[in-house]
This record gives sequence, C-alpha cells and structure tokens, in this order.
Amino acid sequence: AVRLTSLVKRFGDHVVVNDVSMDVAAGEVVAIIGPSGAGKSTLLRCINLLERPDSGIVDVAGIQFDAATPVSGKDLARLRRHVGMVFQSFNLFPHLTVLRNVALPQERVLGISRTEAEEKAIRLLDRVGLKDKAKQYPGRCSGGQQQRIAIARALALGPQIMLFDEPTSALDPELGLEVLAVMRELAAEGMTMAVVTHEMHFARDVSDHLVVMADGAILEEGDPDRIFTDPEQPRTRQFLRAVL
Ligand code: ATP
Ligand code: MG
Repeated sequence: AVRLTSLVKRFGDHVVVNDVSMDVAAGEVVAIIGPSGAGKSTLLRCINLLERPDSGIVDVAGIQFDAATPVSGKDLARLRRHVGMVFQSFNLFPHLTVLRNVALPQERVLGISRTEAEEKAIRLLDRVGLKDKAKQYPGRCSGGQQQRIAIARALALGPQIMLFDEPTSALDPELGLEVLAVMRELAAEGMTMAVVTHEMHFARDVSDHLVVMADGAILEEGDPDRIFTDPEQPRTRQFLRAVL
C-alpha cells in the first residue's frame, strides 16, 4: 500500500533521512524503532508529505509523488485522504464535542452530510469504546480517551494506511494501554499501519515487520522476534539493551 524509494530529507546541512527505502504492504503492520533523533518522525511525516522529501519517491496506494516534481493541491488532498495520522499530541478541537470532532472532517473532506457523518462517528466511537462520550468536550476526557478519539477521527476518513507517531508517549502507562489495545484491534482487523513506537512489547507482538533506524538510515529490518532475540547490528543490540 505504501512504498518509499530512496527518500532523502535534509534540514539545512543536516541529513535527517538518508536514502531510506521501505514498503508497507496492504494489511501489514510495520513498527519503526530507534534512538531519539534517528529520523523516525521525519520519515513518517514524509509519507503524507507533511515534510517534503528532498529526493526520492513516495507511493501511496499507487499514487506516486516524486520529490523532483511539484505536487498540486488536489493531489495532496487525495494523498492525505488515504493516509490517517495520529500524533503524540491529540490535536482535537477543544470547542467541538467529541462527536463533532469525528464528524466534521468527514463533512469537510468527504463532502458527506452531517447526519451521515455523525452516524459514522458514533459507530467509530463505539469501536474505540467511547460512544458514551459523544456529547462531551475533549477537555473532559482523559488523555487515553482523547487519543482514542483522535484514532476514530482518522479512521472516519477511510484511510488506506494509518500512521502512528508515538501515540502513547504522552500518556500514563495505564491510559497508554487503552490506546495500544485499540491499535492491536485495528491491526487484527487488517488495517495497514506504520507505527513509530518506544513500546517494545507492542513492536514485538503486533508488528509483522520491524524497522530499526539510527542516524537517518535503516540499521536493520526484518522479523521482529528475530531482531529482538538476535540482532545483526551491534548498534541495534546496544539500543535494545538500553530500552528493554
Ligand atoms: P524522537 O525519538 O526523539 O522523536 P525521531 O527519530 O523522531 O526522534 P526526528 O524528529 O525525525 O527524530 O528528528 C531527526 C532529526 O531532525 C533531529 O536531529 C531533529 O533535531 C531534526 N529535525 C526534525 N525536525 C526538524 C525541523 N523542522 N527543522 C530542523 N531540524 C529538524
Ligand atoms: Mg519522533
């Protein structure tokens, strides 16, 4: 569903993503781990062109974006529709109810009616265990609840792939578990996902493919169990020893 080819992203002289190629097949969960500053978030943000790569190709659901060619607003909108993203911060609208937070983007982006959008919002809130919060404002919800609302909001647009950038790192462990449970369910239902995470248990149990990044490049990748039990690279071993 997503293919990145030879992506390079620089900030000034600093090469933050250095010739990275990566595939996320339909229905697959890819976890991306690695030390702080490795370029994990930047790589993820290149998938929906929140960061514009300096070179390389981003292919989402067969739509290709070559860094060398300017992207029209229409193509960008099409791409963003296919890619749902959940960040560490939830970015919900504080002045809208939970229901409206999930319904409004559908009305704006998909152009569907308010009734239809709200029906779908209720179904998705139910799916993340928060139907009873529909009429509340986000400020009255816990961090874990807010993150699950953010997931429902992203799912509401019917994405081909969901990107998660450390979705639990701002949460107390207990609240993080609620969010991880929803993500596990999504994975089990066959959602295509790329997940940057420091939750090593999640990475090992849930991902089909593990990518270890450092210094803007992929150190190694492959079967999560293999990498956790027998990493090839000394640098991977060092990282895993520090975080496990
Ligand atoms: P963390 O685990 O801490 O989230 P990360 O692997 O996600 O780290 P990135 O956020 O992708 O790393 O950052 C990679 C490098 O790029 C860092 O050195 C960071 O300082 C730099 N960087 C990121 N965004 C920008 C920016 N907008 N301008 C300049 N430098 C940036
Ligand atoms: Mg990051």
